[in-house]
Amino acid sequence: MLEVLTDSFRSAINKIRFSDDEKSLKSALENLKKALLKADVHHKIVRDLLRNVELETKAKGIGQVNFLRSLKTHLTTILTVPGHQGFVFASKPPTTVLMVGLQGSGKTTTTVKLANYLKLKQKKVLVVACDLQRLAAVEQLRQLCSANEIDLYFEDASANPVSIAKNAMKKAKEGLYDVILVDTAGRLAIDAELMDQLEAIKKELTPDEIFYVADSMTGQDAVKSAVTFHEKITLSGVILSKFDGDGKGGVALGIAEQTNVPLRFIGVGEKVADLEHFIPDRIVSRLMGEGDLETLAEKTSGIINEKQAKAMTQKIKKGQFNFNDFLDQMEQMKKLGSMKSLIGMIPGLSQMAGKLQDVDMENSVEMKRIKAMIGSMTKKEREDPELLNNSRKRRIAEGSGLSQVEVNRFLKQFGNAAKMAKKFSGKKGMQDLQNMLS
Ligand code: GDP
Repeated sequence: MLEVLTDSFRSAINKIRFSDDEKSLKSALENLKKALLKADVHHKIVRDLLRNVELETKAKGIGQVNFLRSLKTHLTTILTVPGHQGFVFASKPPTTVLMVGLQGSGKTTTTVKLANYLKLKQKKVLVVACDLQRLAAVEQLRQLCSANEIDLYFEDASANPVSIAKNAMKKAKEGLYDVILVDTAGRLAIDAELMDQLEAIKKELTPDEIFYVADSMTGQDAVKSAVTFHEKITLSGVILSKFDGDGKGGVALGIAEQTNVPLRFIGVGEKVADLEHFIPDRIVSRLMGEGDLETLAEKTSGIINEKQAKAMTQKIKKGQFNFNDFLDQMEQMKKLGSMKSLIGMIPGLSQMAGKLQDVDMENSVEMKRIKAMIGSMTKKEREDPELLNNSRKRRIAEGSGLSQVEVNRFLKQFGNAAKMAKKFSGKKGMQDLQNMLS
């Protein structure tokens, strides 16, 4: 979903080559403008965002880092709308939520996702089928609720949605439910009859929350209908469905800015578990292609032992990284799983992951050669790469069935990698690396 924007942000940032160079800043801003418009962000938001980023970058000093920081701050500001975040329970149960949206937006699926999310929080949830517009909607809810062991209240399709809502509330109070989620009628387009019906249900239930489910794939149309729904029945939150799809990503900015209603959740797949809290900084991190370091850290901490990691850093610092360490590192990496998913979590590389085929490093020709070469070295040579003179290299080439040119190439690459690692292993080195990646 976010790749279009992420790629363009990166190329805009890369336009800034020199500090104090207004021309490069202008060109970066121009790039950014094109990217945002292409991603369906409203032109007024684009104009304000660019103005703010330009002023702030100039004030702080033109450079990639200031430009990036300013862009991040302003994107986060747009997405952070005052109001509730996530799910908030009313002081007096049941917390009543109306789920509204256009037909096909994902309203029914999202209702069940939310019910499941609350159930996992040990809440007693009742889903109410008030979408009598779409014939299959009640049946869809019945199946989804039954598959996920969620209680459902429904009546005959000929009943009136307002009386269904009233009866459902009675049942919820009697059954001591914590939350009721009411799936209301969807239409292909907004019409007066739909709004009247929603208004009547709202009057009957006085809900604590009215969540609008917006299909992120529909871009500006989703923003426009959110604005209309908000004008008519006052929304308290927006849930962006299909955020996993290949829409253009600008919709989140548009809804936040134009409705001023907080985004509460995002739907990231068709399964019931595919619902995530909407957290502005996290979304901005993903937009900037900064990956998800928290998840990466969780994954690696289970595998990489802190003591070993420290010892390795010390070795690298002293320039003592040898072939045994190299093999060890390769073994550790194998345990972390798919290269593609790992790359996606690394800052600066996440936009690359979408375009990658997964690499089977273990079975690659290169890895096999490297292993053969290291296998042909003596124990001493593996521990001390400096020992490798021409006659030793010739012996290794013969032993591993490779040409001497190939052995030389590998040794050169190994030497360069060790030098790089040494350079980046100090505190300043990490800063350099971060600057290089950001
Ligand atoms: P409704 O008419 O608004 O009730 O829409 P539905 O809940 O029936 O959803 C319409 C389609 O969108 C269904 O095929 C859902 O599986 C799909 N859908 C809903 N939410 C998501 C989501 O977050 N990601 C993806 N990929 N598909 C979704």
